Order: sequence, then C-alpha cells, then structure tokens
Amino acid sequence: MSATEPRRIVIFDTTLRDGEQSPGCSMNLDEKLEVAQALVDLGVDVIEAGFPIASPGDFESVREIARTVRGSTICGLARCNEKDVDRAWEALQDAPDARIHVFLATSAIHREFKLRMDMDEIIRRAVESVKRAKGYCDNIEFSPEDAARTEPDFLCRVVEAAIAAGATTVNIPDTVGYATPTHFGGVIKNLVNRVPNIDQAVISVHCHNDLGLAVANSLSAVEQGAGQIECTINGIGERAGNCSLEEVVMAMRTRNDYYHATTRINTPRLVPTSRLLTNITGMQVQRNKAIVGRNAFAHEAGIHQDGMLKEPTTYEIMRPEDVGFTKTDLVLGKHSGRAALADRAKALGYHLTAEQLQEVFDEFKRLADKKKEVYDADIAALIEKRMNVAEDVWTLSGYDVHATGGGTPTVSVTLDRGGEKISRTNTGGDGPLDALFRTIEEITDTSVVVRDFRVHSVTRGKDAQGESTIEIEHQGRVYRGRGVSTDTVEAATLAFLNAVNRVAAGAGQPLEARPHDAV
Ligand SMILES: [Zn+2]
Repeated sequence: MSATEPRRIVIFDTTLRDGEQSPGCSMNLDEKLEVAQALVDLGVDVIEAGFPIASPGDFESVREIARTVRGSTICGLARCNEKDVDRAWEALQDAPDARIHVFLATSAIHREFKLRMDMDEIIRRAVESVKRAKGYCDNIEFSPEDAARTEPDFLCRVVEAAIAAGATTVNIPDTVGYATPTHFGGVIKNLVNRVPNIDQAVISVHCHNDLGLAVANSLSAVEQGAGQIECTINGIGERAGNCSLEEVVMAMRTRNDYYHATTRINTPRLVPTSRLLTNITGMQVQRNKAIVGRNAFAHEAGIHQDGMLKEPTTYEIMRPEDVGFTKTDLVLGKHSGRAALADRAKALGYHLTAEQLQEVFDEFKRLADKKKEVYDADIAALIEKRMNVAEDVWTLSGYDVHATGGGTPTVSVTLDRGGEKISRTNTGGDGPLDALFRTIEEITDTSVVVRDFRVHSVTRGKDAQGESTIEIEHQGRVYRGRGVSTDTVEAATLAFLNAVNRVAAGAGQPLEARPHDAV
C-alpha cells in the first residue's frame, strides 16, 4: 500500500444482533433475511447475524443467513464456553465465509460481581475459547467485554493472549457507553504501542451511545489505528444504541482529507437501507437524525437557501444523492407497469419473488386508483404489508363503526377464517378503535394488552396512506402488527388483526430479555 492510498476500514454491522436484541426492534426470520440481503447490497464487510445459543429463534436465523446470504462474512456471537462456541459453529458452518465472535468480560466490576473470576482465570478462559473456535474456522474475533473500563495493563495482557491463541480481530467494546473520544483513542493507542503481537490482528471498536459519543469515539479509535468499526443501521441497539453506520461511514468519507480512510460501503444505499429497517421494525428515525433523517438535507433558512441556489457547497458538505436521497420522490402512477414497480422495489432494497411482485402489483393498481401519486414510501408500505400476509389465519371481511363525540361507540366486525365468516356487534369501549380491538379479541378469542400504538401518514397530502403499527402482549410474548390504508381507522384495525394473526402463528418474541451479557 502506498503512502497516499487511504486505509480501508472494515465495516462490521451488528443490526441483526446488538440492534435486534434491543426493545422494539425484534425481527422474525423472514425480516432478518431481508435485512441481511440489504446489508450485502450496502457493501457491509461482516454481518453479525445473531447470538446462536441465546434462543432457538436466534440459532435458526443465523443458520438461515449463513446458508443463503452471499457476499459478506457471516458472524455469530458466543460467550467463552464450549457449548456457546460449538452452537455458534453449528449455526455458521454452511457460510462460505464465517467468523466466530467470542467474548468475555474483563473489567474489575464484571470480574468481581458477574463472573467471580480472577485475572488469570479470565485469560485462561479466553485462550481456551479462542482455540476451540479456531478449531472450526480461521476467522476469529475476540472481545473483552467492558474493555473501556478495564485496567490498561490487564487489557494488554488479555489482547496479547487472545491474538497468540489465534484471534484475527480483537474488538474493544465500550459496552456501557462510558468512554469519551480522547480517552477511548488513548485505549487504542495503548494497545498499538504495548501489545507485541498487535500487528497480527485487526483492532476493532464497538461503541455504545449512552453519552451520545459512539460515533465520535469510533472515529477517535480509527485515528489511533483501529481497522474495524462495529455499528448498526440507524444506530439501533441496547439502551441509547450503537455507533450509527451511516454517520460513521459518511464522516470518514466527507472528511477523507483528515481520516484518510475508506470503506466498501455503497453510500447511495444508506437511505434505502435505513428506510427498510424502519419499515420492518416500525422504529422511526428522528427527523433531524444526521444523514438519513427527513430534515438532514432540508435547508429552510432563507439565507441558506440563497447560498444553496448560487452554489450548493456554500452550505452543503454532502450531496443528498450521495447517501441515497432521490431528487424526485414522485415515482409511479396508474399507468405504470409491473417492470417499473419491480424496478422501484429493487431500488428500495426489496428482493421479491415473481409471486410476491404480482401480489404487490395488484395492490399497487388498487392504490393507484384511489390516489393519484404513488410515492416510494407507499410502495414500501405495500411490500411490507404483503410480506406479512402468509401467516394470516384471520382476514378482515368488513367492519362498521358508529361513533359520536362523547357518545358510546357501536361497532360490528366480520372476520374470515378459512372461508368461515364470523361477525359480532358490540357497544361500549373507550372510543371506536378500542371497541374495534375488543371485538376482534372476542371473535378470535385472544386476550391481549396493547403496549404501543401509532398511526402516521406514509407520505404527504390529504389522500396519503395511513400506516398503523401496533405492539401487543399476549401470554408473556410481544407481537407486532402493521396495517396500511387510505382510511386510518381501517389501517389501525388491520394492524391489530395482523398482530393477532402473529399470535395465532406463534410469531412473537419473548418479553424477557435474552442472555443479558453481550458486548
Ligand atoms: Zn453492544
């Protein structure tokens, strides 16, 4: 590598592991496969697909991603014990390019209170586990959990021992989001200067955003020699989240003059990938979120607009198209054909089968009859809606609502189950939606608690589609539902029914968190 060539930074995405394990972001198998494929399209080097021993669902999804997703290294997480490592490999073995990621806490507070192990015991366990993993594959990552709060001398010892045992990447996590940029850069610098075999492994960083510093800390580490950044789409993750992929990648790209570092990320895929994840999880991105927020490139101030018209670079450090904002959002109308729809679906990050495309196309035609202009967000909403129908036991045949301000609502609902129509009429409830939800609960004989419920417009305009997302709890598990319609009452009803169908299909996530310790 010549002196002028920028350093290549490995992008390790943990949206499907650290991101997915955070509240409100759980995904089912099909959704994880969709996200994994989008991450390949984005150009992510390593996809951390899950924590195979955490649950049968985690195992299954890592195995399916390892079997079917091509184009990135597929990684699985394991604690430092034989069972975890063996289970991780069992899930990963079909991936042509697999990585096992083992971790063990090293900070005094974790050693004393969580693990009850002394320093020598920690090193012994780390070395044993790296060696066991190395018996399965060459590509091994080791993380000393809570590294940012670990004594510097001990951190050097652990890292040296892990590399000597065969770790090819050593990841330095700030598990609790405690680090600050200069401090964290110093942690990396210390390793570079003092670990004798450090040149035999890539130094990675994994920063949490509890103080809003995850991106800044990661960049500071890159300056000191880190060669891999662990991050997530939209910065999702435990508590305040992880380092945001789109922010850290665009910081290095925009300030290449300073960092002299590059990535393999196809940056025009950033916005579509961000939207895909939002559509799947229902977890919205704040409007002023850097890079992918709706306002990220909106120049409202008059003086800025004047400057922008004369010369965009007066106020714009990045071009919207570089991160995937398209200039014209208006895409399709009544006369658009299937090929045009297929094209837009692909651009939005979806990989549809011919059958799925036909279904979405039929829905699109119905929507285009109701509403003149069909936007990207409308298409994404239609696709997400179709992707959920396969598991539906109940479908909505019809409903009727009578409600007045302050009065008691009367609702009738008719559901279809395998051709059989069941109707019920109810009076009462706190408003029409509550009455509709209760009536569906009665017909389906499913008692639930609503944990979260939202309706928002997918695009602008009075004829915009309303999208409703709902999260319900049933017998200790959480289920999400989504509904889309130009009528918001119908959207909400469909979302509730979608969640109830997931109850019927057993497609929920356990309420209680999975194994708590993770990097
Ligand atoms: Zn983490």
